[in-house]
Amino acid sequence: MTTVFIISAPSGSGKSTLVKAVREWDPSIRFSISYTTRPPRGQERPGESYHYLTEAEFLARIERDEFLESAQVFGYYYGTHRGVLEEARAAGCDLLLDIDVQGARQLKNRIRDAVTIFVLAPSQKELEQRLRARSEDLEAVIARRLSEAAEEIRDYRLYDYVIVNDQIETSVETLKSIIRAERARRSRIEEQILPILKTFEL
Ligand code: ADP
Ligand code: 5GP
Repeated sequence: MTTVFIISAPSGSGKSTLVKAVREWDPSIRFSISYTTRPPRGQERPGESYHYLTEAEFLARIERDEFLESAQVFGYYYGTHRGVLEEARAAGCDLLLDIDVQGARQLKNRIRDAVTIFVLAPSQKELEQRLRARSEDLEAVIARRLSEAAEEIRDYRLYDYVIVNDQIETSVETLKSIIRAERARRSRIEEQILPILKTFEL
C-alpha cells in the first residue's frame, strides 16, 4: 500500500532540508524527482534535484500526457512524471512529493487519500533571512519569491497538516510523526489486521 505525502512551502521555508532528513531516516520512501524548465541552481546536478528540460521538451511531454500534475511556478514549468506513482505502487513504497500549491490541488483531486503537509517559516523576516542565507539566488529572484510567498501562504487551508519550521530538529520530528501516524491508519493496515484476527478464532 502506497501513501502519497505531498509537501509544499513557500521557497526558503526549509522544505528541502526536511525532505532530506526524512529520506535519510527512511530510505524506503520514494522521492519524486520533478521535471522543470528552470536552470540548475548552485550545486544542483541533473537527475538529482530535478530533470532539466527546455520549454519545448516540457510542452511536448505535456502534450503526450506524461505528467500526473504540472504547473508554472516563478515563470518556469514544473511537473511530476506519472511513472513515479506507478513505480512506488508496484514496489509497495510510500511516495514523497515536493510540489507547489497548484500541483497539490491537482493531486488531491486525483488521489483522495494523499496526505498534504504545508511548511511555514515562523515569519516573513525569517523567510527572507533563510533565502539570503542560502545565497543561491539573485536579489531579484529572492524579491520575487518573497512576494509570491504571501500568495502561497493564503492556500494553507488546503493542507491536512502545517509544520511551523522554527527549530529544524523539532520540525523533522513532527514530519516523522505525521508519517508514522498515517502509516498506522486502519485503511492502510487492513491486510495486516485480518491474519491477526484469524489467530483469535477458536
Ligand atoms: P526550501 O526547500 O523550502 O526552499 P531550504 O530547505 O533550502 O528551503 O531552506 C532554506 C535555507 O534555510 C537553507 O539555507 C536551510 O539550511 C535554512 N533552514 C531550513 N530550516 C531552518 C530552520 N528551522 N532554522 C534555520 N534555518 C533553516
Ligand atoms: P525551486 O525552484 O525552489 O526548486 O521550486 C520552486 C517551487 O516549485 C517549489 O514550490 C516546489 O515545491 C515547486 N515544485 C517542484 N517540483 C514541482 C512539480 O513537479 N510540480 C509542481 N506543481 N511544483 C513543483
